[in-house]
Amino acid sequence: MRITVLAGGVGAARFLRGLRAAAPDADITVIGNTGDDFAPFGLHVSPDLDTVMYTLGGGISEEQGWGRDGESHAVLGELAAYGAGPGWFGLGDKDIATHILRTQLLAAGQPLSAVTRRLCERWQPGVTLLPMSDDPVRTHVTVELDGREQDLHFQEWWVRLHAAVPARRIEAVGAARARPAPGVLAAIGDADFVLFPPSNPVVSIGVILAVPGIADAVQAKTVVGVSPIIGGAPVRGMADACLTAIGVETSAIAVAAHYGSGLLDGWLVDDQDKDAVDAPELAGLAVRSRPLYMTSVATAAEIARAAVELALEVRR
Ligand code: GDP
Ligand code: CA
Repeated sequence: MRITVLAGGVGAARFLRGLRAAAPDADITVIGNTGDDFAPFGLHVSPDLDTVMYTLGGGISEEQGWGRDGESHAVLGELAAYGAGPGWFGLGDKDIATHILRTQLLAAGQPLSAVTRRLCERWQPGVTLLPMSDDPVRTHVTVELDGREQDLHFQEWWVRLHAAVPARRIEAVGAARARPAPGVLAAIGDADFVLFPPSNPVVSIGVILAVPGIADAVQAKTVVGVSPIIGGAPVRGMADACLTAIGVETSAIAVAAHYGSGLLDGWLVDDQDKDAVDAPELAGLAVRSRPLYMTSVATAAEIARAAVELALEVRR
């Protein structure tokens, strides 16, 4: 069985760990969001690719859900002693090694897809991890701050401002000219089905789908998604602020309706959102409810198993 998954960070990584357990023989390709990438201190950081790589490779900080386990922060401490920022972005010493190597290989002319492959040689994530594109795509958030409209890099809005300042617009800058990375369209085309893990519908899945060619390729396949929204709120993070910015209500029904029945074939919601199962807005979609909290690898595997079963059931 070939399964292709579009992935953001923490929600995706935990789901994928469950999927690997639920479908140990499946050939899984993960297409990761790179709209969150940025370059503190000139280091190329790919937060979503790294979260997936560390989680599946056994090097994640379980408490944070991102970054390395057993971290120290000597480098950032030394930089702070020089008064060098940004101080709001956490970068542990072990994590910095990943970013140094990525930056070095990119500077030597390797595309991000090749660099990601190189980093995964160490972590052996048990999936093929591809960036959505080798071309730069940067998610920008337009806010009103200090009395004027400002265009912020996604990380500045999300991490520094905790998405507490309302977003007027969210834009994947560069997406329109970006090309899918080598292997991306083939992985979608060759898949038995595509899964959307519980990832941010706007700045993770939405940004991946904004790369020309990806949405059309996905649309041609059977697609099953897992709701990142339970009981009208994100499970963690501030996805509600992103949904509000694009005019979508923070509910399991509204997120599925936003993707639409042209894209999605099946949708898993939490038992709290059972009303989605026969919601008229979701006519034409197979909706199932079940517990959707990924509290352990075992519960994530149960969710992944349900997603696979639903995909096989609705497969066209
Ligand atoms: P990020 O890049 O780290 O923000 O990660 P993602 O794009 O993967 O999005 C995280 C999304 O996963 C958020 O919208 C959360 O609400 C959702 N999420 C996190 N943990 C869980 C969980 O246990 N169950 C479900 N259903 N969603 C979750
Ligand atoms: Ca992210």
